[in-house]
Amino acid sequence: MVTRVVPGRNTDAAPAVDVPPGDRNPGMGVEDRVEALTRQILATVARVLASEAGRGLVTQLAGESGTLDDREQWLVALQRLIMTAIGTVALETERGYRGARARCTCGRTGRYVRDDPKRYVTLVGEVEIRRAEYWCPACGAWRPLDAQWDLPEGHFTRNVVRLAAMVGSALPFSRAAEVLQELGGIGMSPSQVRIVCERVGEAIGEDQAATTEQALQGAVVPPEPPEVLVIGMDGAHLNTREEGWRETKVGVAARYEWREGERGWELRPVAAAYTALLGPPEPFGRMVYALAQQQGGRGRQCTLVLGDGAPWIWNQAAEHFPDAVQVLDYYHLAEHVFATARELFGEGDTTGRDWAETVLELLREEEIETALEYLKRTGEGTAKLREYIEANRRRMPYRWLRARGYPMGSGIVESACKQIVHMRHRQAGMRWCLKNAQRMLNLRCYIRSDSWDRFWATRPKVA
Ligand SMILES: [Zn+2]
Repeated sequence: MVTRVVPGRNTDAAPAVDVPPGDRNPGMGVEDRVEALTRQILATVARVLASEAGRGLVTQLAGESGTLDDREQWLVALQRLIMTAIGTVALETERGYRGARARCTCGRTGRYVRDDPKRYVTLVGEVEIRRAEYWCPACGAWRPLDAQWDLPEGHFTRNVVRLAAMVGSALPFSRAAEVLQELGGIGMSPSQVRIVCERVGEAIGEDQAATTEQALQGAVVPPEPPEVLVIGMDGAHLNTREEGWRETKVGVAARYEWREGERGWELRPVAAAYTALLGPPEPFGRMVYALAQQQGGRGRQCTLVLGDGAPWIWNQAAEHFPDAVQVLDYYHLAEHVFATARELFGEGDTTGRDWAETVLELLREEEIETALEYLKRTGEGTAKLREYIEANRRRMPYRWLRARGYPMGSGIVESACKQIVHMRHRQAGMRWCLKNAQRMLNLRCYIRSDSWDRFWATRPKVA
């Protein structure tokens, strides 16, 4: 039995207790309050178990029929009944009552008017919170508890919003709503999930702009640099309503450290942070700079910038990471070589595959002249590839990288594009308006970075 929680209506909630104006537990010490709440919680559990719904579930659990699956469902239902009731009782300990008269923030005196109850969808179910309401002749109605408890403006708590944004960033909104209901008993419509994602994505954009500005002004103290800092930049395309296919720039900064693995010591990514922008290279470059600062700013041994051949990447690399080693991402290089092989020899041809392997082998060994010669001998069809290699020849220190165990295009850039853009934005037939596409990018980047917890610790106004 899973009851859907509808804002403003809840059949599971414990009946409201009438609390007269005045402190609920006036003058009680902490220990007395703990004692009192403990007794209330125990009494609440007893009351839920004695209620019709609770009794029914316990009867089923005590009975002989029913599989483990059934019992699990009954337990979840019972858990939700109990938690919602306990939540209501536990959140009644305070209502922000300051006496019959209280001072408003404007300095004037306001008078107590009434208790204003409001329902909130929380992680433990829907609960009602009673807030003492005052009237100030200058400012109107105000409720001290709103500020004291940092209560959300809407009906969903910040924790619920955080969870919904996380699920909504991974799944289409209608699926996300189903998962939230199934997993947490949280009643949210698909359009509510969408609105939540948009608000959180917007707030992350603001947070990102602020942290980028701080990093550019040198106000960020970077953490201890990693052994090797790898910075990757790439472009991915997504379909927008306004302008059709548009390039999203995706950046990653990854900390690499030596770790002992099955094949001995290996340099491995131990942490990574992402950023993405549907926009021009310059602001994106600044965002990547800030991202790199958050990951140590540089590597103790070396800093690498990986990218495909796009000139804007190397311009930004030169601007923000002048001391870094620029590396043409091997993954992208191989893609180009194999694409040329298909053009020359046809799809799935083994001659083509052997040819591509020979070219790549030469390039991995830094035999660039030999590789260019070989391509020239192959014929005119290799002109574009030769141009690409010529343009990037000083970015192919593959032998040097391998000798030191450094990555030469581990796919970290490619997988960033997949994780940030393709998996959510490029599902069948999906078209995004530019603004919301960017908000979703922000969301997905933060969730995959260590910025997610830091962002929520700032208590953003998103609920
Ligand atoms: Zn006032």
